[in-house]
Amino acid sequence: MRKILLLITSLIFQQFSAQNLEVIPLGVYGGIDESNLSSYLVGVKKNNSYLALDAGTLTSGIKRAIALDSFDTITDPQLILKNYIKGYFISHGHLDHVSGLIINSPEDSSKPIYGLTSTIDILKEKYFVNGSWSNFANEGEEPILRKYQYRKITPLQSFPVENTALNAEIFELSHVNPQKSSAILIKHKDEYILYFGDTGADRIEKTNNLDIIWKRIAPLIINKNLQAILIEVSFPNQQPEEKLFGHLTPNLLNEEFIKLADYVGKENLEELNVIITHLKPSGNQIEIIKQELLTNNIFNLNYIFPNQGKKISFE
Ligand SMILES: [Zn+2]
Ligand SMILES: [Zn+2]
Repeated sequence: MRKILLLITSLIFQQFSAQNLEVIPLGVYGGIDESNLSSYLVGVKKNNSYLALDAGTLTSGIKRAIALDSFDTITDPQLILKNYIKGYFISHGHLDHVSGLIINSPEDSSKPIYGLTSTIDILKEKYFVNGSWSNFANEGEEPILRKYQYRKITPLQSFPVENTALNAEIFELSHVNPQKSSAILIKHKDEYILYFGDTGADRIEKTNNLDIIWKRIAPLIINKNLQAILIEVSFPNQQPEEKLFGHLTPNLLNEEFIKLADYVGKENLEELNVIITHLKPSGNQIEIIKQELLTNNIFNLNYIFPNQGKKISFE
């Protein structure tokens, strides 16, 4: 009896203490290596239901994740593509965020694609057309194959991620103003993960898009409900500001986190998980970016440099 009681107590404790969201990176770079471009699966542990955050690389990343046991005993990449990925969030229309989706579309199963109207229009007008591919979606040029359903999402409005236990909210970003990119806040119960597509800093882009997001997530950080932020750092600090092309450097990320610290208090940023995405692998740039982040970690953030296929959980 006592044993059973102990078991029940420990099960209840696990239920409350364990973080349930997990991330499986399928691609982590912002260019050059076509087998490893931006895509992150987010889902609830053991649910086998993921939303793909961007889709630069799919199959190469799934194979790597299988090799690293990130999908437990599953060994068939097609099964993951078709059955585990329940939909795609595409942050913006650049090729390094959509190429895996386009290339894998003939083998994929029917599912929704979420994005800003401007992003969906790029898929509809530039990629899922006869000149560059075939129209696997449900709107646009004939013949319409209707495998994917476009979901045009209004910013700042919560929506359910179909066939998952997740809800989400999208925010506009500026990626060389006036060109738009977007971020997504994923919610499961009282846990959240925030993913940024490519973005410039507010000062450089002359917008307040990041500021809007910092205000939105401030209470989530204060209440310890935000499990992680995935944000890009594409270039090292030496990149001239006029040649950023709508991206961040370690110094610009700090500049933005200083604003966030104003809203949450710097003690609340301590050990916050910040997953750095979209490094551009040119020369020894990646090592320089990592070093610049780690040596000037003014808020003692927990920087995570993701590896393709290696599951990230937040215990
Ligand atoms: Zn990109
Ligand atoms: Zn881009």
